Amino acid sequence: MENTTKPMPVVFFGHGTPMNAIWQNAYTRSWAKIGAEMPRPKAIVMVSAHWYTRGTWVTGQANPETVYDFGGFTELENVVYPAPGDPALAARLKELLIPTEVGIDNEEWGFDHGTWSVLIHAFPKADVPVIQLSIDGTKPASFHYELAKALAPLRDEGYLIAASGNVVHNLRMWVRHQGLNGAYDWAERFEARVKETLESGDDAALVNYQTLTPEGRLAVPTPDHYLPLVFMIALRRPGEPIKFPTEGIDGGSISMLSFQIG
Ligand code: ZN
Repeated sequence: MENTTKPMPVVFFGHGTPMNAIWQNAYTRSWAKIGAEMPRPKAIVMVSAHWYTRGTWVTGQANPETVYDFGGFTELENVVYPAPGDPALAARLKELLIPTEVGIDNEEWGFDHGTWSVLIHAFPKADVPVIQLSIDGTKPASFHYELAKALAPLRDEGYLIAASGNVVHNLRMWVRHQGLNGAYDWAERFEARVKETLESGDDAALVNYQTLTPEGRLAVPTPDHYLPLVFMIALRRPGEPIKFPTEGIDGGSISMLSFQIG
């Protein structure tokens, strides 16, 4: 019998400020729509900019804690995202990602705000199991691109593979920008260039992101918030459509671009 089941989509969320967890705005409404419009995932594998580790790790707890991985934001200290974990899926990732050695973390991490600030909108019932996959901060973008390809079969089994970061993320310039109007032009240029490169499917250019625009270093001063994108493009299949539920620069130097493949 022919298998006509469509693979699950792949989603990159541009998360921005942690306050989006409790705000209702154009970004958070679009995240809600993304979750509501897709088939219910069996579970979610989430790559967050905020789990940046030495080596590759997955969360293994059955009931992960909500981690408050930021300073300030006292309004958020009672926010909880009580979705279950999925220890069996964590063990499966460890096998899928061979020969990369994957550690299963049962103590350190849980859900960081890169994960819960968007899933609280996309899957507000918190009834879909979630595991996080870390970003190995010692490895280049090309490593993560190759690593993520091994996750491809999960798309055919009803799992959602998603990521949370920001295509442009310069906090120093964001702070300096407060009180000014509009976005930095280098931030807008970088976001536009990423978007058109996603549309054309030039993965090599996106992996070598430093040279996407002459001011790439201002747009991506550190790789943590950009690399989640690299995991997602590695999962795109030939001819698959891509759409952009949100875009635009917040606070001058944070790109809120999100995209969905499939
Ligand atoms: Zn962040």
